[in-house]
Amino acid sequence: MTHPRPHGGLPLLRERLLRWYDEHRRDLPWRAAPGEAPDPYRVWLSEVMLQQTRVETVRPYFERWLERFPSLHALAGAPLDDVLKQWEGLGYYSRARNFHRAAREVAERYAGEVPGDPEAFRALPGVGRYTAGAVMSIAFGREEPLVDGNVRRVFARWTDAPEPAEAELWALADALVPGERPGDLNQAVMELGATVCVPRGPRCGECPVREHCRAFAAGTQDQRPLPRKAKPTPHEDTASAVVEHEGRLLLVRRPVDARLGGMWAFPAAVRRPGETSGAAAERAVREGLGVEARAGEEIARVPHAFTHVRVTYHAVRCAWAGGAPRPLAYDAWAWAAPEELDAFALPVAQRKIAALATEATLFGGL
Ligand code: SF4
Repeated sequence: MTHPRPHGGLPLLRERLLRWYDEHRRDLPWRAAPGEAPDPYRVWLSEVMLQQTRVETVRPYFERWLERFPSLHALAGAPLDDVLKQWEGLGYYSRARNFHRAAREVAERYAGEVPGDPEAFRALPGVGRYTAGAVMSIAFGREEPLVDGNVRRVFARWTDAPEPAEAELWALADALVPGERPGDLNQAVMELGATVCVPRGPRCGECPVREHCRAFAAGTQDQRPLPRKAKPTPHEDTASAVVEHEGRLLLVRRPVDARLGGMWAFPAAVRRPGETSGAAAERAVREGLGVEARAGEEIARVPHAFTHVRVTYHAVRCAWAGGAPRPLAYDAWAWAAPEELDAFALPVAQRKIAALATEATLFGGL
């Protein structure tokens, strides 16, 4: 099977990319200086954090993380609660859970040394094809390909493909990577996509490889690749019970295999057809903890978009009406005073609800 290729030979394309990368690469905290050996733990961490997340958002998280968990051993020995607390605000928490599990596996099976064998590395929790390609090529100099959103766009333009197939993208990445400095080569393509071959208005005048670019030759670069058809995202109305008792708020820790697993939250239930937020909030507390609560007013509506679902949280303040909490549908529970809320790993939407709930408390609402 033949796959579409850019103009000109791949060796010349590689050479131009590497030369451009040496001059234009951004200084990022996870990048080893030229000539310095990259640290696999830092490279891996950065790749996990950068999935679905912008460089500028990741930067402070990356630095704080390394202060708290300076080595893979430090991470492997930490409780999940601490790990999620460090991740708080970055979203897509399964990344942190998997990275933690993988660190434990590396500590146990490989004495804390990240395996440089692609097959062994790919078998670790949360390691997909992209992460494997990135860590193997950047940290170990292996000729392993990778494709991410930037690479997809760049390749679509080089080959003038409106809707490039996954298999074609990986085939091109696979053909391009063999040779000197495979890690820098992979980073060069991603860097080109992030800084020059940007989604809207690519800067072809500054592009080191425009002679190889079929879309540039055809003048179609603005239409390559075509936008993917967005699937409609389902929506859920979820009641969050803000249960107050003697000046404390009731928090629960979500089961590890649930959405936002391992994170702390207010007890919640998806509203059933015809059910009010108050009734759903009372049900969440009864079914999740065996506690009776009396729902009061709705104090906030907080929208949040997950990858596959949009949720509107209806935060309902509730008064405790009897029963000691038991972890029926949750891993753990805690009564938290307003000044203690910071110590819990709360996802962004829950943090907003907590802020509004404590405001309400301060102003005599609860
Ligand atoms: Fe992208 Fe333009 Fe370079 Fe082609 S010539 S790779 S469209 S920046």
